[in-house]
Amino acid sequence: MRLAARRGILMGMEEMILLKMGEMVLKGLNRSRFEASLLARLGAVLAPHGRFEVTSRQSAVYAVPDGDCDMDGAFAAASRVFGFSALCRAIRCEKEIADIQQKALLLPALKNARSFKAEARRADKKFPLTSPQICEQVGGFIHETLKLPVDVHTPDEVVWTEVRETAAYVHTRPAEGAGGLPPGTAGKAVLLLSGGIDSPAAGWRMARRGLSLLPVHFHSYPYTSPEAKEKVLTLARILSSWCGPMTVRVISFTAIQEAIRTHCPDDLATVLTRRSMCRVANAVALRNGAGAVVTGDSLGQVASQTLEAMTVTEEASVLPLFRPLVGMDKEEVARLARRIGTFETSILPYEDCCGLFTPRHPQTRPKPEAVLAAEKLYDYRALEAETLKNVEKIDV
Ligand code: ATP
Ligand code: MG
Repeated sequence: MRLAARRGILMGMEEMILLKMGEMVLKGLNRSRFEASLLARLGAVLAPHGRFEVTSRQSAVYAVPDGDCDMDGAFAAASRVFGFSALCRAIRCEKEIADIQQKALLLPALKNARSFKAEARRADKKFPLTSPQICEQVGGFIHETLKLPVDVHTPDEVVWTEVRETAAYVHTRPAEGAGGLPPGTAGKAVLLLSGGIDSPAAGWRMARRGLSLLPVHFHSYPYTSPEAKEKVLTLARILSSWCGPMTVRVISFTAIQEAIRTHCPDDLATVLTRRSMCRVANAVALRNGAGAVVTGDSLGQVASQTLEAMTVTEEASVLPLFRPLVGMDKEEVARLARRIGTFETSILPYEDCCGLFTPRHPQTRPKPEAVLAAEKLYDYRALEAETLKNVEKIDV
């Protein structure tokens, strides 16, 4: 069975992946641009799993294996492509009701189902049976042969028959797709990526809105360890399994943090750190054609994320600051992190640079005048310009 699945052949049947486009189908004249990005990304994620012929019609995309393919791997990869709302593995049939009936019996999900109902879609209007007739024939056959009860209201499983131009397909309930919009269709943004739970989740949410990400990580070597950096790269790799290859920029924040520790009033150190990160992130964004900065801030989470602190931090940014987690609580973010696969890495215990030199009593309501006055005590901008000369770029 495993070997058969590898070939895209389910018990001797030809299997393929059927994907449904998400909200991009609502686009008007722009739609072809979205579709091109979607198909390019799908092609890229399928390639390591074998040769697939990918075609689209209306809001459906068909990935048909051409020869030996790893269908399990291909399906898992395709379920991470932003822009698809649903996907399923379908069995190809001749456009004859007898063949459709026989192949429907082979659908693996029917083995454990306690009840089912049949549904049909007939894109090829020349097919001699109407959709209700197809349902009746396929449903009746399954019911009699497998002795499986029909339940039209709350079925355990749904058997779909889709009659298309070139072939018919049967499949059961589709799985949820990654949703959102195809990669890069909304432009580019810098993602401030720490090793925590929040920022990878924040990046994922914005990538899902079509932004391509340019992750920036600040380290404070030797105060932070090489393992802390490795952890961030692992997180970036997990993110890239959703959004495609990225180049992570790793930037030293040590000198800036030391200067803040020496020259800034203790209670404003946190907000000065944030503002400085923000300016450096803006510089990276502007150099690389990115139009926004994404952070994992969530309102009220810590001292740097009160309304007042966010306001003064934001004033250091020329570009819009996106905080997709702002209204989420920690549990919701953790759930999202589990779903996208970053949680287990995020909770590994390595020190982030923000945890260093944290004042005992950070100002939770920093006054803009006080912050600006504190920034005048030292030429932080010169240090920022200096640190920007040594950006390490790592492809993931
Ligand atoms: P996370 O928010 O990712 O769980 P955290 O809780 O340690 O990490 P916070 O103190 O909440 O970080 O920081 C708020 C946001 O600032 C982060 O979500 C991230 O976008 C950014 N940030 C913090 N530390 C760093 C860093 N070392 N490099 C890049 N960005 C950072
Ligand atoms: Mg956080």
